[in-house]
Amino acid sequence: MIESQIENPQVNGQGSASVETLSVREICKSFGEHQALVNVGFDLQPGELLVALGPSGCGKSTLLRIIAGLESAEHGEIWLGSRRIDTLAPKDRDLSLVFQNYALYPHMTVAQNLAFPLKVKKVSKDQRLIQVNKIAEMLRLEDQLTKRPAQLSGGQRQRVALGRAIIRQPKLFLLDEPLSNLDTELRAHMRREIVSLQKSLHTPTIYVTHDQTEALTMADKILVLKNGHMCQLGTPDEIYNSPADTFVAGFVGAPKINFITCNYKTDSMGRSSVAPMGVTFESLYPKGRGVVLSSGDSFVLGVRPEAIVVGPLGEFKGRIKEVEFLGDRRVATMFFADTEITFYTDSKSFKPGADINFNLKKDNLHFFDVETGRRLGL
Ligand code: ATP
Repeated sequence: MIESQIENPQVNGQGSASVETLSVREICKSFGEHQALVNVGFDLQPGELLVALGPSGCGKSTLLRIIAGLESAEHGEIWLGSRRIDTLAPKDRDLSLVFQNYALYPHMTVAQNLAFPLKVKKVSKDQRLIQVNKIAEMLRLEDQLTKRPAQLSGGQRQRVALGRAIIRQPKLFLLDEPLSNLDTELRAHMRREIVSLQKSLHTPTIYVTHDQTEALTMADKILVLKNGHMCQLGTPDEIYNSPADTFVAGFVGAPKINFITCNYKTDSMGRSSVAPMGVTFESLYPKGRGVVLSSGDSFVLGVRPEAIVVGPLGEFKGRIKEVEFLGDRRVATMFFADTEITFYTDSKSFKPGADINFNLKKDNLHFFDVETGRRLGL
């Protein structure tokens, strides 16, 4: 693992580059009629890794390109420490951008690729050699220095691309789906390497992905984008456990959260009931948590698979649709009322068509507005 090899991330003997807060303020960008980004803003502290997460076309890459200076915004400002950088040329912004397609020079060796940014900066040959060797050691590329990119594996190529980004000691790293070309195992490995490297260098980093697992495992903060709008900015824990709306709840988590459309009613005695659950509202939702409903209102109940506990005494009844074996556990689907619900089970005996009982973990339920999809209550 790389952690043990990067106790001293200073690569040029001058100490690490000073790190500063990135402040992105109210960025708006349109392509013709299409609004690609609408009032996007956030602060990123030194050492923090922010993952910009969202489906294809939500504006992630555009955001990164605007910060890098490859695209200009119609509105908004970008500050790095006390410097406003959106008015500067890309080369003066002091940041490194890494793409999924590596962008290595095919005719150069690994050593030459790594040294290239320093050559541009007119760093002396001796210093270049020292720094290339340090970066190669940090990224476990010592044995690859004389090879050309075509002779490397995908993971090695991506390490060279990262090395080239690091060697310049930028004040900001921008990574655009850098692991998309790698297989699952290598991706998981490189994720850990990038996080440990980034924590060691303490450089604020924005990492773009559409992969929610990558976001949850790597981020200090996640910015969820949809159609250019910010849906939520929060820690992985906040995003997963307190999603701001049904889009965030549905995008983050695999298997996906279950949504059950419910109707709330009260009788003349003031007693509540929730269809199709067949229980009182209070039994689903502790008092004092801020959800106010009127009789006849509908809402969406969000139930993550892990909030479903199957057992003979469960107060709800479902019928098994199918069971999928995942090795360490099983993921099953059942019919409940008109809804298909996914849950985890250890049982080997569930067969399609079997009736089961289940309970819900009540501290793990989410309530959303049926029209806007916004979270209800605290
Ligand atoms: P992906 O994950 O597929 O790369 P993304 O979230 O990074 O998607 P962007 O590439 O930022 O999305 O694009 C956001 C929206 O802006 C998309 O609808 C895209 O078609 C549009 N767009 C991006 N660049 C341009 C451009 N140069 N001209 C016109 N439209 C563009």
